[in-house]
Amino acid sequence: MAKQTKKLECLMKLQKALKEKFELENTVESLPKKLREEEDKLKRLSSDFLRLTEEFNAAREEEKSLTIRYEDAFALRTKYEKQAEFVTTNREMDALLKQQEEAKSQENTLHKARNAKQQQVEKLREELDKRDEECRVQQEIVDKEREKVSESVDSIYHKIDALNQELNKLKGNDISEELFERFSIISKRKKGEGIVPVHGQVCTGCNMVLPMQFVIDLRKKEENNEIEQCPYCSRVIYYEPLDPQEERKYIFVDIATSIDSLSSEEEIEESTKDEEILTEGEFSLD
Ligand SMILES: [Zn+2]
Repeated sequence: MAKQTKKLECLMKLQKALKEKFELENTVESLPKKLREEEDKLKRLSSDFLRLTEEFNAAREEEKSLTIRYEDAFALRTKYEKQAEFVTTNREMDALLKQQEEAKSQENTLHKARNAKQQQVEKLREELDKRDEECRVQQEIVDKEREKVSESVDSIYHKIDALNQELNKLKGNDISEELFERFSIISKRKKGEGIVPVHGQVCTGCNMVLPMQFVIDLRKKEENNEIEQCPYCSRVIYYEPLDPQEERKYIFVDIATSIDSLSSEEEIEESTKDEEILTEGEFSLD
């Protein structure tokens, strides 16, 4: 890397600390999110469990009632069968047979209904056991997640405090309060990459090709300890020389021609205008 000016060096240190801080802040934000998701899942499982419990209890009540009715029907049919011994006339016998038949049919119907209900109760019991286990497992996940969040948040805030102190130390002669604030905003917007090198004519932050004269001016500014931003992405940029063969891949204008053509006042004015349009609405650090 080329000799860095003091401001650039400070901004690079600042970027490193800021990036670390942003990552920690993101972690703090995402931690409760995970906990909330797990808590929501537990709520859903618990309400399913309650609904199923009600269904199970109702089915069991129906099963009890069907059992009683079946036992009554069984007793009635047996009673009619015993009465056959005491029947004396054909007429009486016909009436009794009819009663027996009806009682038998009622007994069969209730027997079937009770068995079906028993099966349903058994199925619900299995389902209930399964849901109970799911709730237990989910409760464990939630408890662990709660513990993790409170521990992590404490330790992360501790780290963020330390980073803030480190960041404050970087404020001083080279990094004004204003530059510090603006650079922090750019870095946050650019996911921690607030300062990037220029290779040849290319900003490595946004991969846009910069005008050759702009790059030449950039190098002059660096020598004067001045800060420049990419007109396309607003990141702070600095020129980073590459191996000449490698650098050629990032150069799109013949340097000599470019300097000649840009020497006329008209061209320079044009170039400044472009810059203003491109940086509109973005931050300027000068
Ligand atoms: Zn850029």
